[in-house]
This record gives sequence, C-alpha cells and structure tokens, in this order.
Amino acid sequence: MLKLPKAKQSNTAPLYFHTMTGRFAPTPSGYMHIGNASTALLAWLQIKNLGGEIVLRIEDIDSQRCKKKYTKSVFEDLLKMGLNWDNKPLFQSDRNQHYQSVLDFLIRKDLIFACSCNGKMIRKSMLNMDSHNYMGTCMKKNLPLDGPYNLRLKTWKGYPVVRRSNKAWSYNFVVVIDDAYQKITHIVRGADLQECDSLQEHLRRLLGYDSPSIYHAPIWLGPGGGKLSKKDGPISLKDYFKKGWTPESLMGAIAAGLNLKKDKSPCSAKDLINSLESYDWNKSSVYSSDFLPL
Ligand code: GLU
Repeated sequence: MLKLPKAKQSNTAPLYFHTMTGRFAPTPSGYMHIGNASTALLAWLQIKNLGGEIVLRIEDIDSQRCKKKYTKSVFEDLLKMGLNWDNKPLFQSDRNQHYQSVLDFLIRKDLIFACSCNGKMIRKSMLNMDSHNYMGTCMKKNLPLDGPYNLRLKTWKGYPVVRRSNKAWSYNFVVVIDDAYQKITHIVRGADLQECDSLQEHLRRLLGYDSPSIYHAPIWLGPGGGKLSKKDGPISLKDYFKKGWTPESLMGAIAAGLNLKKDKSPCSAKDLINSLESYDWNKSSVYSSDFLPL
C-alpha cells in the first residue's frame, strides 16, 4: 500500500491572500431601473472575473428620499437578475456612530470648521461638494461645532461640507468611510460620479485609507439625451417584468447596450463573465431606446 508522507508542521505563518472586493452601493430612493442594473452588472462581472467577492451597501442616509419598499425591491431585483452578493448588507442609516468618530478624528486634527453661510452659491457647492466657489469665509469666525451649522473640512482643494446643518452627512464623506470599512478594492460607479473621485481620494489620504481601483459605468440616456429617469416612462425593472420581460431577456438587452454581446438574445449574468475582458471601460453612455422599449 502506498504510504503518504506525514504532513510536516510548517514553521512559517500561513499566507493570507487579500480578497478582492467589489460593491453594489444603491440609493433606495426609487425602484431600480436599467441604468442601475447595468452599473450593478458591471460591478458584479468585474469582481467575478477576478475571482473576488462583492458586498452590498444600502446608501440610505437621506431619510427623506429613501424608503424601505425601495430597499426591499433592490434585494429582489438584484437576485432576480442573478446579481448575488456576499455577506450581510450594510446600511448607512445604521452607521451614524462610525461617521461621528471619523468626524471627531478630523476635529482633533483641527481640520473642521462650522460655517453659517447660506444662499444659492453655498447650496450649489453643497450639492456637489465642489467648493471652489466658497472661500472659507467662516473659518475665522470660530462658530461652535455643535451649533446649527454646516461642518466643512479644510483641504487643499477647498472646503467641502462633511455634515450639513440638519445633521445629514455628505455622500463623499460617508462613501469613503464605508468603502474603507468594507475593504473595497474595486469600485464600479456611474460615470456621472466621476467628478467626485479626486475629492474622495483626497479624503482617503487624509484618513490613511487604501485607494481602491475605480471604474465608471456608462450612463443610460433617455430620448432627450439626458440621464434616463422616471419621466421618460416606465423604466424600472419591475415595470419590464410586469410587461412580461424575463430577467434573462432584460439581461440580454442590457448586455447588448454595454457591447458585452452583439445581439439582445436572453442570457444570464454568469454567461457574461468572460465577455468582461473585452469590455471598453471608456464607454460613457448608452442610448436606452436602441436596446429597450421606453
Ligand atoms: N449610491 C450611489 C448611487 O446609487 C452610488 C455611489 C457610489 O457608487 O459611490 O448612484
């Protein structure tokens, strides 16, 4: 009988491989539409192609706009489309304490100041955290940080808001914290968020976080040439399912729109994993009506 040698006890520590981790990061402020599904598909394909894991984060910090019924439908729609995720979903609405502790760290470093400015100019800069047009007027006022003010960060790029006067956290602040917390190594997000990349990278450096690789998914356009939205018609996945589309037929149309395949024939997400290698990440938009009835 063949004798197998006894396994030797190794003196070296075991090797730990760093798992590549991607993410779905939907905002549950409406039903998932084909544009969202297309971004989720690319995120899923990219990480599956690399043999990594994908986690789900529900970006529900805006309690006015986000609804439980939309979160529920995100779960249903992703699973229907075969876009499964690993681990338990993370909810931004549960993470106030984490965001606060990062804010406290920045306060200790004297990088935060309160700002009482309001008006059109500031509203604009708050929306996109583009603070080029805000000159840091309040920096010298030393307003109390626990007052009814926006809290701004001092950076070489300007003074982006991290928390608004109504205590709402800004997207760029929490997304950077959560990407680090979930150990995200690969981000796929809509091309419309590209303008946020440099500020987020700056925040990461300030906080000592690793930088993930970032890719952009094309924007699905409506008939008018703008970003596809509810006003363009019934464009949610649910609407298509109601009209008799199957997840595979929808997937086929989305894949054709992304040039992952030549025709719109039905397919599953799994069928597309190898096609990702030839995907053109510079593709910035898709005319929705070329691939789906609106
Ligand atoms: N929550 C954002 C959205 O639904 C995505 C944010 C991100 O990918 O950084 O568009």
